[in-house]
Amino acid sequence: MSSTEVLNHISSDGAGHGAGYAIQSFVLDTLDVLGAAVEIAEYGVYDVLLPGEQFQRITFDPEISQERDDCELVTYGTPFLESMIGYAKTLGRLQVRRLDTRSDPPQNLDDKVTNVVHFVKCKPPKVSRTWTEEGFLLLCQFVVTFHGDEVTEACMTTVIDCQTLADVTHLRARLDEHWFTHNADPGLYPISTPYRLTESVSRACRALQPQIEQVIGRIQLEHRAAREDELAKSRHYYETTILKLEKQLSSTLDAAKAERIRKKIEATILDRDHRMEDIARAYEVTVDVHLDQAILYRLPIVCVEVQLQQRADTFSYVLHYYPFASAWAPVMCETCHEPTTRLERGASSSSWHCGCEDIGG
Ligand SMILES: [Zn+2]
Repeated sequence: MSSTEVLNHISSDGAGHGAGYAIQSFVLDTLDVLGAAVEIAEYGVYDVLLPGEQFQRITFDPEISQERDDCELVTYGTPFLESMIGYAKTLGRLQVRRLDTRSDPPQNLDDKVTNVVHFVKCKPPKVSRTWTEEGFLLLCQFVVTFHGDEVTEACMTTVIDCQTLADVTHLRARLDEHWFTHNADPGLYPISTPYRLTESVSRACRALQPQIEQVIGRIQLEHRAAREDELAKSRHYYETTILKLEKQLSSTLDAAKAERIRKKIEATILDRDHRMEDIARAYEVTVDVHLDQAILYRLPIVCVEVQLQQRADTFSYVLHYYPFASAWAPVMCETCHEPTTRLERGASSSSWHCGCEDIGG
């Protein structure tokens, strides 16, 4: 969003409540997205602690700010609001959508869990209990700008599970099949399950890589012929020039003239190398990624605890099932944090890994 868009958004939110209210709801929403700790110190006075920043006491009420000198008034043109607008511009908008339906675990669980993940050297898993928790999926919409021969823009989306940080972009279409409550008020529906919003955003950026590389590959392929053509033309031009100079050099007996030609050849070679680099660089593609908006989906997740037996030892493991998509959540390795279809006990015996610990030593 641009500054104007952010400001328009702030004033439209405040319709009927006055500017102070609009600023307040915008700032508190933005602080929430940024993961700031916000405490109401007194009526109308907020203590704000942003990650990695100094503690600040703010108010949105001009009267309160006149009465006391320990808090900063947040209104149009103040540095605090400017910095919030700055954040909002990079973050875009975060919407919260909540799905409130009853969710039953799938039938014949014992049979199904064996297909979700293979537990190495264990007897088939036995389901010991199931329960439902609130889960969080973060859908990030990015605007990606490709700077190459020409500038192109693309919208790209990734979906991340905020608890396990699994990439679940493949389930995106399934989200659209449900009716969600928009901007579910956390006052009415408190969030009790911990989730990692900031890490989910970085994970969403990383999950974008394959999509970006695909587009870069396509752009480079489209321009390969033109690039090869330009390189060949240049190469031919310099080859003939150098050849001509070398002929002149071999036919001259004048030492001073020969020296001049030799210098000229050197300069031409240098010029050729620069020109070739320039052409190659002109066809390079650089990328700008900008998070345009994000949607946090709050939805039920079924937790399925299984018991596993390995010789005399027993372990338990919790699998996640997404009722909204009738699909199992990807199983993530606890060591390398990549999705896996097999799990084995680590050497430390305290966690499960995909096999990466054996390779890593
Ligand atoms: Zn691993």
